Amino acid sequence: MRAIVFEAPGQLAVSEVLDPTPGPKDVVIEVAGVGICGTDIHVFEGHYGGTEFPIIPGHEATGTVVAVGAEVTRLGVGDRVAVDPTLSCGECDYCVNGRYNLCLHWNSMGVTRDNGASAQFLRAPARNTYRLPPEVDLYQASMIEPLSCAMRAFDVLPRRLGEHYLIYGAGTMGLLLAQLAPRAGAATVCVVDPNQSRHELAREVGVETVAASADDLDRDKWDVVIDASGVVAAIEDGLPRVKPGGTFQQFGVSPAEARATYSPISIVRDEVSMVGSAASLNTLGRAVEMFAAGAIRSIPMISHAFALADYAEAMDMFRRGVGGKLQIRPNAAESIELSSVARR
Ligand SMILES: [Zn+2]
Ligand SMILES: [Zn+2]
Repeated sequence: MRAIVFEAPGQLAVSEVLDPTPGPKDVVIEVAGVGICGTDIHVFEGHYGGTEFPIIPGHEATGTVVAVGAEVTRLGVGDRVAVDPTLSCGECDYCVNGRYNLCLHWNSMGVTRDNGASAQFLRAPARNTYRLPPEVDLYQASMIEPLSCAMRAFDVLPRRLGEHYLIYGAGTMGLLLAQLAPRAGAATVCVVDPNQSRHELAREVGVETVAASADDLDRDKWDVVIDASGVVAAIEDGLPRVKPGGTFQQFGVSPAEARATYSPISIVRDEVSMVGSAASLNTLGRAVEMFAAGAIRSIPMISHAFALADYAEAMDMFRRGVGGKLQIRPNAAESIELSSVARR
């Protein structure tokens, strides 16, 4: 099969590799779509930490089951599925206590070890796959994996109905969080992103208030402030905007060496909660339900679909911040533009 292989940090090849075969508890999936995200760029550059090269990247995948292992009973050939890329050990203290996303031996397909989905076929443990209802579009459904991470944020966020939310970052994750917030009880949602080219897409997916800076907004304190950018300047801007008694959530991924400063006394005096959210935990199945229920407007968000041969171009476009969500379609012959909203 044809696959993208990161041979070593910074080295990409479009290669012919052996077709995967399923182990007893695995399925093999013909990949339809796989989203590109910042994690793939970190993996490519060798900055993710823990990546075993060579590796086929891609962890936001959907496709159709084409082979099943001898012990797989829950799925069959022809089933359309979304894939949870998380590989947890099941045996460490965190796994035993149900905190698989904190597993001491945490891995992710296409990120740390085991091949990912930027290939015509993907082998995955059957227990990592979730059947899609017939009304769900298989290409659009590659938003389900990032959606499952956004849903984790709400699982750990202390919240009440009727609160006001401020979200930093109008990238894919910021816009998923912004679309979920009203369903989680938000009265209003504001999104801030200095990259004004993203503002129209934010409005297109239903965000009423979008601004380049929180200084431009009517309100000056919010019950819930979520950083979905990982940018230190955004984090330092957002923390003091949390209402007394409110919550700051760190969702965006910063470089390991990043440090943000804040006023400890204001956290004490204002009883501000600070909450982290890492990857997903038992959210992928519910993300399928939310996606099927139309909770997310994915159509304007996915701006381009790339054939494997154009993977390097897709990474370059991602780095330049052009377009919306970029998708690879490993079995497509050519690349196409899908939605121009993100580029206007
Ligand atoms: Zn991702
Ligand atoms: Zn574990």
